[in-house]
Amino acid sequence: MNRDFYSKLIFELSQPGRKGYKIPENHLPEVKLPENLKRTSKLELPEVDEPSVVRHYNNMSTNNFGVDSGFYPLGSCTMKYNPKINEEVAAHPAFTSLHPATPDKAVQGALELYYTLQCALSEVGGMAEFTLNPYAGAHGELTGLLVIKAYHNSRGDVKRTKVIVPDSAHGTNPASAAVAGYEIIEVKSRPDGTVDVEDLKPLLDDTVAAVMMTNPNTLGIFEKNIPEIASLVHAAGALLYYDGANLNPMLGMARPGDMGFDVMHINLHKTFSTPHGGGGPGAGPVGVRAGLEQFLPNPRVVKNSDGSFSVISDKKSLGSISAHLGNFAVEARALAYILSLGNQGLKEAGKLATLNANYVKESLKDVYCLPIEGVCKHEFVFDGLADKSTCVTTLNVAKRLLDHGYHAPTIYFPLLFHESLMIEPTETESLQTLDEFIDVMRDIAREAKETPDVVKNAPLNTPISHPDDTEAALHPIVNYTELTEL
Ligand SMILES: *Cc1c(COP(=O)(O)O)cnc(C)c1O
Repeated sequence: MNRDFYSKLIFELSQPGRKGYKIPENHLPEVKLPENLKRTSKLELPEVDEPSVVRHYNNMSTNNFGVDSGFYPLGSCTMKYNPKINEEVAAHPAFTSLHPATPDKAVQGALELYYTLQCALSEVGGMAEFTLNPYAGAHGELTGLLVIKAYHNSRGDVKRTKVIVPDSAHGTNPASAAVAGYEIIEVKSRPDGTVDVEDLKPLLDDTVAAVMMTNPNTLGIFEKNIPEIASLVHAAGALLYYDGANLNPMLGMARPGDMGFDVMHINLHKTFSTPHGGGGPGAGPVGVRAGLEQFLPNPRVVKNSDGSFSVISDKKSLGSISAHLGNFAVEARALAYILSLGNQGLKEAGKLATLNANYVKESLKDVYCLPIEGVCKHEFVFDGLADKSTCVTTLNVAKRLLDHGYHAPTIYFPLLFHESLMIEPTETESLQTLDEFIDVMRDIAREAKETPDVVKNAPLNTPISHPDDTEAALHPIVNYTELTEL
């Protein structure tokens, strides 16, 4: 940052009118480099002409694939189109130039945005209050489980050391429970893909802190037995956690709070749009039912009786889980998205996501193996090709889709089937896009029979085609030096 501008800002912020804000003494530490570290000759930088640089970065950018480049049916990830108005809102200088330590009085607009989104999410989820601080779904799970732990501890109920997770759950569920210090107990699914209540019953006792559920679950199937499960869980003194990654089809139709869930997270970057993938950016707000608000992380934003907003800390809180108020730009996008669609628009989005998934499923189930029949919600899972006599696997199908300019669906998850191929079209795709995708999927199924080598050797049109997956996962090359040493 420009030094003059910085000094001016510091000067303005330190004016007596700004109560409670103290500039740290060493805000601009003077750097004194030892003589032996100082450069003695001019720095030698490679000279590259501008067109070469522009072409290099331009070419690199075309190796990226995003929702703006094409259909992205990555199951569980809700890769919906991100309206550009959201970017304008998030990039507004009134938000991007804010410093997290600015006094409340000077950032009332940003706090109002935070508070308004908090209320909108409480309405969507049927919860008493939300915190927007967590950075992702997984981070929300950890935060929610720490809320649950703080609740049990506040009652002196410290022998609850287990968290129950369905076998269909996303991997982050057991991982978050482990990070929160819990032992993980798995509950089985029935052949129809829903949680087996009979298998759950004997697992519930006074050592269970929480049961984590996803609804619709990762197979895209609506869990109908939640009221029964909620009463069993509550009778055992445990709390019911809702993984809200699949909230999209539920928008305006059903609310986790009304079903009996106590704590939930929402993946803003999935349900409420934000370009994501490759690790971010995201936000995983956590909502709680009445009676659990005081355990939410600090800081919290509240509305005062005079209509102003304040940032507060609660003593019973589990503490801080993020830098200040979370990923503000993602919060701004989510609110822009919610306000531009409105109640009716959100409901339509959820319904259309369900319709699109069922349309693609029904159009392909004669050539791909559909292990669980019936109506799905926003996504569904095939178990490889219907014709089991070919040697073509789900991985081959996914790679062949790349040749046709599609991002591959999620593969080999959930773990319930050997050849899982999980497709989530989202509501933002046109009928024409869905029909083209269906045609390509049918062509691949035909190729698998007639010319299986074509599918097995795919992709042929991508910068790289068959990396060693295991080696790439175990020993990823993440810096330029290692790459040049190859
Ligand atoms: C995406 C997802 C998560 C994790 O969310 P992140 O935002 O990626 O951390 C958890 N559960 C389910 C079912 C998901 O699809």
